[in-house]
Amino acid sequence: MLPAVLRPHLWALLALPLSSAFAQQNVKWAVAVHGGAGSAEWEHMDKASADAYRAGLSKALAAAVAKLQAGASAVDAVEAGIRVLEDDPLFNAGRGSAFNAEGKNEMDASIMDGATLAAGAVAGVATAKNPISLARAVMERTPHVMLIGSGADAFARKIGLPVMPPSYFFSEQRWQEFANVMQQSARPVPPRPVPAPQSALQGPVVPHRYGTVGVVARDKHGNIAAGTSTGGMQGKMPGRVGDSPIIGAGTYAANRSCAVSCTGAGEYFIRLAVAKEICALVQYRNFSVQQAADYVIQKEVGVLKGGEGGVIVLSTKEDPISSFNTLGMFRARQTEGGKPAVIVEK
Ligand code: ASP
Repeated sequence: MLPAVLRPHLWALLALPLSSAFAQQNVKWAVAVHGGAGSAEWEHMDKASADAYRAGLSKALAAAVAKLQAGASAVDAVEAGIRVLEDDPLFNAGRGSAFNAEGKNEMDASIMDGATLAAGAVAGVATAKNPISLARAVMERTPHVMLIGSGADAFARKIGLPVMPPSYFFSEQRWQEFANVMQQSARPVPPRPVPAPQSALQGPVVPHRYGTVGVVARDKHGNIAAGTSTGGMQGKMPGRVGDSPIIGAGTYAANRSCAVSCTGAGEYFIRLAVAKEICALVQYRNFSVQQAADYVIQKEVGVLKGGEGGVIVLSTKEDPISSFNTLGMFRARQTEGGKPAVIVEK
């Protein structure tokens, strides 16, 4: 029998998740950020748009890197990076979200901690300023993994997270893209949620089809995490939920395999459980993260008609990689001791 004084310590050790108990110290941190994938936008990308995307991705990367440099957790870095992109109307998440067929925003987000397998997600939220922070609160402050719709928005208000009116999320660019999508599919364009500004955009609008955002990170303790946030697909049916808030489809993280954030045609990513599938190849077949991502994105998603998109992935041992079957993917990465790399080009 252990002396009484030692028993609490033993319990504390047993209570730790296995992966944290054996987490390494002073591993090199690493992080990758994405701002969606697509094709049309790369066919028509002008310098001003490329610069704007580069600036947004750089800012998000810097926010995540600042957390990792300060010794914060991979989960902190994921949340910090995604919040920056949610606040940037250029990307389809938080402010600047896509519209459903009724012209309303319904946002989805999820986050997962690879050290503990804790996960949180929200779907169809309309008021939470930063859906990724609400997903994190679901993970840390409820016994559940996912909250949806009005229940999720009410939870945001209850715990004091900032909530915003529809006008905050509205972006003229996103509305014009939406109106185009509705017209091209011969559906009526619903009334605008906010009045048209004097400077309403004119002329053709190049849709940014998959503008979802995501971050994967590894902290200096060797723990990994992933998160994804989106306004979903333009013109989606009210109530439609994509892959982004679904653990195993749009987001997954486990220290024993890898951390993944996806973007693309969500219905395909859900059917193929893309994020978990990549991690399964790493865990059970010893694929590198690049081999696993390429296999799933090119040979599984890519062979299905309409199966378009991409992923960012890292593991406790391997630095971040990306794989996509579209013309381009907005992405950025940095590892400890290295310089930021922001890729807006194809
Ligand atoms: N995957 C997202 C969805 O289907 C869309 C995107 O990646 O932009 O909702």
